[in-house]
Amino acid sequence: MLVKRLAVSLLAVFAMAGANVVAHAEPAAAAAPRILYYDASQAQEFVAVVHQGAQIWNSKVANVRLEPVPAGRTPNIRVSADNGWPRAYPASLGNGRWVMGREAVNDGYYPPRIAAHEFGHLLGLPDRRTGLCTDLMSGSSAPISCTNPNPNATESATVDRNFRRSVTIPAREYVWVG
Ligand SMILES: [Zn+2]
Repeated sequence: MLVKRLAVSLLAVFAMAGANVVAHAEPAAAAAPRILYYDASQAQEFVAVVHQGAQIWNSKVANVRLEPVPAGRTPNIRVSADNGWPRAYPASLGNGRWVMGREAVNDGYYPPRIAAHEFGHLLGLPDRRTGLCTDLMSGSSAPISCTNPNPNATESATVDRNFRRSVTIPAREYVWVG
């Protein structure tokens, strides 16, 4: 009797475990990353660092990929450079432009961190001026000495969620020092 009852409970456990596996596996199998093409050809001396910023995101998120735009194709994201502050102009999730600004580079801010941060705006992240170097979107509120170019786990998870749900983000301007 006891053995039979044990067997029945074990069956129930396995059935629940099976249901969980199916429930968790389904979204992963269905998801292909959204490809965003970026054009770094106008980024002047910062072309390499723009590619680096894109690679950082590619290593941290699964639902979106940043790739250099192939010839003849319209980019989702255009990157340029000038003497002002770095800034981003997302028009919608994954579309818009950003500027690598020499004002921040000359002040000593770490260029790969700036590049990853500005891409972060195009991926739907706002500024969060926490002052923490561990936060990518803290931007210029972290010390100038901060050389962390990586999004933290929450920032990466937010970007993955943004692209899984194709959230709507407002068009606006974000400036490095604001
Ligand atoms: Zn910003």
